[in-house]
Amino acid sequence: MSLDFKYQCSDCNKEVQSNEIVYLCPDCEKKKKPGMPPKGVMKVIYDYDIIKEDFRGGDIFFDLKSENYLDLLPIKSIDSLPGLRIGNTPMYEVDEFEGKALNSYLYLKDDSRNPTFSLKDRASALVSAFAKEKGLKKIVTASTGNSGSSLAGICAAQGQESIILVPESAPKAKLMQVMMYGASIVPVAGNYDDAFDLSLQLTKETSIFNRNTGFNPLTIEGKKIVAFEIYDQMGGRVPDLLFVPTGDGVILSGIYKGFEDLLKLGIIKTMPTLVAVQAEGSSNLIKNIAKPEEFKMVKSKTIADSISVDIPRNFYMAVNYLKKYKGIGLAVNDKEIMEASQKLAQQTGIFSEPSSAAAFAGFMKMKKQGKIEEASSNVVLLTGSGLKDIQAVEKIVKMPKPVDADLKKLKKFLGI
Ligand SMILES: *Cc1c(COP(=O)(O)O)cnc(C)c1O
Repeated sequence: MSLDFKYQCSDCNKEVQSNEIVYLCPDCEKKKKPGMPPKGVMKVIYDYDIIKEDFRGGDIFFDLKSENYLDLLPIKSIDSLPGLRIGNTPMYEVDEFEGKALNSYLYLKDDSRNPTFSLKDRASALVSAFAKEKGLKKIVTASTGNSGSSLAGICAAQGQESIILVPESAPKAKLMQVMMYGASIVPVAGNYDDAFDLSLQLTKETSIFNRNTGFNPLTIEGKKIVAFEIYDQMGGRVPDLLFVPTGDGVILSGIYKGFEDLLKLGIIKTMPTLVAVQAEGSSNLIKNIAKPEEFKMVKSKTIADSISVDIPRNFYMAVNYLKKYKGIGLAVNDKEIMEASQKLAQQTGIFSEPSSAAAFAGFMKMKKQGKIEEASSNVVLLTGSGLKDIQAVEKIVKMPKPVDADLKKLKKFLGI
């Protein structure tokens, strides 16, 4: 049986006692200024003392469908989750890179192995399960691509309806997914922020359940589960450094929230150091860490569409976490992202989309700078599949001209 939960505002700490949906803190929501990130993103809080009493240790988290999770999720039954396999993704150890043995431990957590090929399924699954328990049949989201394709797929599995508002410029594969899953797709003439605001208006008018990232606190709560899995897959330890591709800062906050839950339960004693990796051309989150109240927006421009955001939707929570737990902000440029993407694919067999490659580029950059300590353990979170955005990599590979179906010509072509 899942226990009660409540919401706590990540800005003013106001608590809202409710097991229904609460989006933003009613007090802080009003304080939003135009051009600034939203205030009042809520956190789901449990009664940790009660949970502690009969929480089992060990490999507790491996399966999302295990009852062990339930006390730390705002749903009543695991049966509300989709039948598809969500999470429980592999984490690979890499001993060697570029022909050399690594002197530190490197683990790749491959979250492209989710039903719709990105980490977003963790959030969509929880939002969808919550909706199911509340009898809500329609869910809307604004999306740059992955959260929309994820919600569309998860709703298809759950017999729910989804409405996906996307900017026209989203990568084609992601749009195809949305349409194939049978969602109502709404291309919005404008950017992601326009689509975001439009979906909020729809929710206000119609009460259609809204999955928007950050805005709906369950997105953070769903994404936190990846932290539990990392803890488990490392044999009940936390890594030294954890590289997280960061746009709106929801995945980053979700991971912090997950480890914070474990800290509150006494399961872990220390927090890992998270590295928030942003694309240089879309780094408003890490650039504004020092003076969050004077947030300055620079228009984003990067090849990594999933982390291309102007105003990070979970800016304040992410920044508070980074400060509290001494996280690191790191920017990598598009060239470094593309290089990392290719190296990752060629040397590990994992083809990631540019945003995930950015996290790997972050690891490579710190390694080059001598900032990866010997024998330290490092996890790179790979959030989405490379097949979702093949246009991004078309520039770095070249299709050779066709060879006649002739063995001699083939041997000549291969130089053998
Ligand atoms: C959404 C997404 C991100 C970034 O997550 P934020 O919560 O916006 O920081 C990174 N990679 C992929 C593949 C994503 O879909």
